[in-house]
Amino acid sequence: MRIVITGGAGFLGSHLADRLLADGHSIVAVDNLITGNLDNIAHLRERSDFEYRQQDITVPFDLDGQVDLVLNFASPASPIDYLKLPLETLKVGSLGTTNALDLAHRKGARFLTASTSEIYGDPLEHPQRESYYGNVDTIGPRSVYDEAKRYSEAVTMAYNRYQHLDTRIVRIFNTYGERMRLEDGRVVPNFIAQALRQEPLTVYGDGAQTRSFCYVSDLVDGIVRLAMLPRSDDSKNPVNIGNPREMTILEFAQFINALTDNPSGIIYKADERIKGDPQTRRPDISRARALLGWEPRVPLEEGLRRTINYFETRV
Ligand code: UDP
Repeated sequence: MRIVITGGAGFLGSHLADRLLADGHSIVAVDNLITGNLDNIAHLRERSDFEYRQQDITVPFDLDGQVDLVLNFASPASPIDYLKLPLETLKVGSLGTTNALDLAHRKGARFLTASTSEIYGDPLEHPQRESYYGNVDTIGPRSVYDEAKRYSEAVTMAYNRYQHLDTRIVRIFNTYGERMRLEDGRVVPNFIAQALRQEPLTVYGDGAQTRSFCYVSDLVDGIVRLAMLPRSDDSKNPVNIGNPREMTILEFAQFINALTDNPSGIIYKADERIKGDPQTRRPDISRARALLGWEPRVPLEEGLRRTINYFETRV
C-alpha cells in the first residue's frame, strides 16, 4: 500500500512509518514540524519507499499518485504543547482532519484517525469502555484538545455515513517510548529527565491521580491491526488502544526513581495544569482483544528501560 501519515515526523507518526515500511508498504509523511521533528525520520529520508512533504494540513492539500490509506496523526498532543498552541490544536483536529478526509475521499483510500482517551474527559466510568460518552469540560484549558478530537471523531463518522468512506477511529491512551520530546512536558519525559539529572521528580497535586502507560511498539501494533482489518459493519466504531496496567502518578514516580537509582526523591508541585487533570484513566481493552486479537506485550519496566536509554544521551 501507499500510505500517507499526517504528523509523520512526530512521535507516533514516525514509529508507524518504521513499522509499515518494515511490513513492505511505502510511506508519504506529511508534517508542518510545529511539534514534529525531522530527526525522527532522518534514518528514512534516503529510502525510495519513503517521501516527506512539509505541509500544514489545516490548509487544503493534494498529493500526486495513488493513496491506499491515510493515517491522521497530526496534532500537538501533550498538555503543554496544546496549551501553547491552542488555536493550532483546534484547527488541526477540525480543519486538518477534514482536509485529510477529503484527500482519502478523492483517492478512494481508507482513513484512520488518532483519537484519544481525552474523549472521556475526567471519567465517571472506570475503566473506560468505548461506549462511555465522557465527562468533558467544553471551556476548560484542556478543551482545545478534547473538543478538537471530539470534532475529529464526528467529522470522521460523517464521512463514513454520508460519503461511504471506510474509516477507523483509534482512541489512544497514555503512550511512551523513544522519540518523545524531552521538553514536551508530559510525565514520562519530565520524570525521566529529572531522574537522569538526579533531581527530585515533580508530582503535580497529591499524585493520587492514575494513568495507564502503553509502550509505543504495542500501541503501533494495535493501530496497524485496526488499519488493516477488513471493512465490516463494526470496523468504523472507535477502539481503545492502551495498556490497562494502572498506577498512581506517585507510584509511577517511585518506580522511575527505583529504575534510575535516583536518590533525590519526589517533590509535590501545585502546577496550574492540575485544573481539569483527569483523576483516573484506564482503558477497557475488551473490544481491541475481540476485534483485533490485540493486547499489550511489553512490560512497563522493559519499556521504561528502553526509553531511559534513549533519553540518556539527550539530557
Ligand atoms: N504530571 C506530574 N508531573 C509532571 C508532569 C505530569 O505529576 O512533571 C502528572 C499530570 O498532572 C497528570 C499525569 O502526570 O496527572 C499525566 O500527565 P501527562 O502530561 O503525561 O498526560 P495527560 O495524561 O495528562 O494527558
